[in-house]
Amino acid sequence: MSENTVNTEELKRSLNFIEVIVENDLKEGKNDSRVQTRFPPEPNGYLHIGHAKAICIDFGIAQQYGGVCNLRFDDTNPVKEEVEYVDSIMDDIKWLGYDWANVYYASDYFPQLWDFAIQLIKEGKAYIDEQSAEDIAKQKGTPTEPGVASPYRDRPVEESLDLFHKMNEGVIEEGTMVLRAKIDMAAANMHFRDPIIYRVIKRPHHRTGNKWNVYPMYDFAHGQCDYFEGVTHSLCTLEFVPHRPLYDWFIDQLATSDYRPRQYEFNKLQFTYTLLSKRNLRAMVEEGILKGWDDPRMPTITGFRRRGYTPESIRILMDKIGYTKYDGVNDIGLLEYAIREDLNKKANRVSAVLNPVKLVITNYPEGKTEIMPAQNNPEDENAGSHEILFSRELYIERDDFMEDAPKKYFRLTPGNEVRLKNAYIVKCTGCKKDEAGNVTEVYAEYDEMTKSGMPDSGRKVKGTIHWVSVDGCFDAEVRLYDRLFMVENPADDERDFRELLNPDSLKVLKGCKMESYLKGAKEGDKFQFQRTGYFCVDKDSTPDNMVFNRTVSLKDSWAKAKDK
Ligand code: ATP
Ligand code: MG
Repeated sequence: MSENTVNTEELKRSLNFIEVIVENDLKEGKNDSRVQTRFPPEPNGYLHIGHAKAICIDFGIAQQYGGVCNLRFDDTNPVKEEVEYVDSIMDDIKWLGYDWANVYYASDYFPQLWDFAIQLIKEGKAYIDEQSAEDIAKQKGTPTEPGVASPYRDRPVEESLDLFHKMNEGVIEEGTMVLRAKIDMAAANMHFRDPIIYRVIKRPHHRTGNKWNVYPMYDFAHGQCDYFEGVTHSLCTLEFVPHRPLYDWFIDQLATSDYRPRQYEFNKLQFTYTLLSKRNLRAMVEEGILKGWDDPRMPTITGFRRRGYTPESIRILMDKIGYTKYDGVNDIGLLEYAIREDLNKKANRVSAVLNPVKLVITNYPEGKTEIMPAQNNPEDENAGSHEILFSRELYIERDDFMEDAPKKYFRLTPGNEVRLKNAYIVKCTGCKKDEAGNVTEVYAEYDEMTKSGMPDSGRKVKGTIHWVSVDGCFDAEVRLYDRLFMVENPADDERDFRELLNPDSLKVLKGCKMESYLKGAKEGDKFQFQRTGYFCVDKDSTPDNMVFNRTVSLKDSWAKAKDK
């Protein structure tokens, strides 16, 4: 899909495969016609844009079909989890525009999971293995060769029960004993070859403290938690396809009625020039490569939020990209296109000169000023207008003047006319330079009869440029962001991700000239800086030193570079 074919206005689309499944289940009256989903993050990092895809389908399906979606923290590993992450996850989901019916924690089910493990041991379906992790791995076999049975596989039930209790009492060292399900060491599905279901971890847990010294593995917790909660459709990403038979096997051992949660898998979100794993993102934060989880270059939800993305743009994009059974990489341009589309409708147009040079209108009376009306948003007639000050001395972009310009340069060059947006047509008369040859001032003459909005202002000039008045502007800092990675697929690159970073992913401009209308804008307020891009007020902003983030440029400069 090329970015130009995305039409975010048109929300009608055919049902995705998950919606088809849910509608069929409802038609058949499955699960008493209940729809219940969950979003199950592990609180070991901040959510990234990939998680937004899961959130949109988990909460979206529940909303669409009058169901319930719960938030469940998959906190089965005390080594990596922190309360800070729990709070940030809740914040990010709310910001995206969703709310959960209940908050659950997998750790709430530790007692039931323990009981279920005891049940399996008693039924001869689980045993304590005293081999090392390496030995167990070696015995797994390969997809074409059966595994080798552990020497502990047939130990008496009583022995396993006793040792499992000891594991939990804290008298067994980490790594010396595990509980394994006793299923089939020759199964074609490797996950059935006596999977480890519990291991010893002697660390306090962020919720259960020192209560437990054994913790369940993901495969032993996830499906059962779904079952305890009454989940009907357990949606996850494609890498869990091979886990599904084991998910079902455990539920079969556990279920006492016809009710079964069902797992369905969809494609993971992956964008070009983007790395999405929490492990890598954490490394970037911890090593100081980026300034925290909400650095606007981070692909985290909190990073996009600080960068100026809107929740609507992300939700609409997830719907557009869709849910399929095939993995693929999406063009990062889609994300940029989505936010441009949304802000085009919402952001007021303002003037900001990022790389200023002074323009003096030599025939405009000294000391005179005028108030010019500026339309806030031509895409929204209800957005109104605001006032800008015009005077003899203005700032324009340095790029908008050229002393020796090529033929097709339609901006200011001696002898050429341009329109100053919302003001007059001016004719360039020359410039002043310092000893090094740098332009320090540009000169022009205005034509009084060409004021914007005047009946006879219809004179055609080929260029329109933006400006701010020297008397009606203030200085601010502007942060320009670019792609964090230089290669298209950092996730597939063999090199360490640190070698793939774009050294120019952040440019800080100081002394940018802002029209006074921007004074007092609050953190998160969004604007279109005319001819430049969409910007928002950063959280580092103070009344005396305002800071703006570039959310996205007006056009995709990378696409242009590729065409050349
Ligand atoms: P990561 O590998 O980035 O750490 P994760 O899968 O370990 O991610 P979890 O907190 O376990 O992160 O994931 C919570 C939910 O989000 C899961 O259902 C998972 O399948 C889903 N999810 C994670 N990454 C993506 C992605 N890139 N696209 C879509 N869904 C995702
Ligand atoms: Mg995970």
